[in-house]
Amino acid sequence: MAKLTERQTNNALRKLPMPKGLIDFSSNDYLGLAQNRTIFKNASNILKKKGVIANGATGSRLLSGNNGLYGELEVVLASFFGSESALVFNSGYDANIGFFSAVPQRTDVVFYDELSHASIRDGIGMGLAQSYKFKHNQLEGLSGQIDRARERKPDSDIYVVTESVFSMDGDTPDLKALVELCISKGAYLVVDEAHAVGVFGSRGEGLLHELGLQDKVFARIITFGKAMGCHGAAVLGGDALKGYLVNFARSFIYTTGMPPHSLATILAACEHLSISRGGQMQLRRNINFFKEQLRGHNLAAHFIPSDSAVHCCLVEGNEKVKKWSLQLQDKGFDVKPILSPTVPKGQERLRFCLHSFNTENEIKDVLLILAEVFD
Ligand code: PMP
Repeated sequence: MAKLTERQTNNALRKLPMPKGLIDFSSNDYLGLAQNRTIFKNASNILKKKGVIANGATGSRLLSGNNGLYGELEVVLASFFGSESALVFNSGYDANIGFFSAVPQRTDVVFYDELSHASIRDGIGMGLAQSYKFKHNQLEGLSGQIDRARERKPDSDIYVVTESVFSMDGDTPDLKALVELCISKGAYLVVDEAHAVGVFGSRGEGLLHELGLQDKVFARIITFGKAMGCHGAAVLGGDALKGYLVNFARSFIYTTGMPPHSLATILAACEHLSISRGGQMQLRRNINFFKEQLRGHNLAAHFIPSDSAVHCCLVEGNEKVKKWSLQLQDKGFDVKPILSPTVPKGQERLRFCLHSFNTENEIKDVLLILAEVFD
């Protein structure tokens, strides 16, 4: 009970009022697309052109909710992200619990990175397969774990799960080595690309695509609520996987579909990424500038190494990290504290999310203040 109370007060929304007028170093809106007026207008135009006048989906996609925009969007997604098929879910949380609770079977084995997102762990927990963590980004240990599982259960399918950008660390596994490992061991690799979409890839197709590895994995989970500025998610994979999920993923079946305007917004965001690389290039410049400034202030050693838009400064202890976050907020910068138990005790952190719209001066100033706080 004492622990429950601590969790509640640490994470309660009322403790984190929506900051007004602060400079955004906290949202997942990496490219500012959630505020993009052209996307907003283009989404309305798509609805007008199709003659869609509906506020809601009216039912599950298996019943009345599968409006025509779904089909069009899934074709566009498969083509944009380079997969055979795409299946849209209402959120990344739904996509992960739907996938992991349904695909690995009772006789199978799942290995997942110990820092995998809660939605991955929840989905695995709902499924029937045996599951084991592997140490964060450590492929040697994973390799041994797979070998031992193969010896114990030679006929099982083995799944390996990771993220291409870890949400609370910003770091990435060695995806090339991981792909090779999974191919050599005959394991199915599943990668959550929630924080890589829009940030990596020549048009924002994600890190696997940037590395030319998109065809070498069993499935990718992408989400639209971060750099794409909308909400929802998709599982990218083969036609057979899509067909299976449609019939067995309970978070797909037993829920009302997305409203047409959400689907139109995702279509408009995809179109934006296809034709405009300016935001992505600016974000990359900002990431490089942020890292340069870290080195300049001798702060790099306090940060988890990252090439993504997420940069985390370890500040041990919930009270200390909350205090430091408030100090940054008092100076006008919205930098959120990430508390235990969201991250392991002792690894509490300030999470800096970088955006294409952050200016060099904002980056300079926030790190100057952080350096002062350290002093
Ligand atoms: N996967 C990862 C890695 C995430 O960070 C998140 C969101 N924090 C999700 C899945 C869930 O996505 P959504 O917010 O669309 O439910």
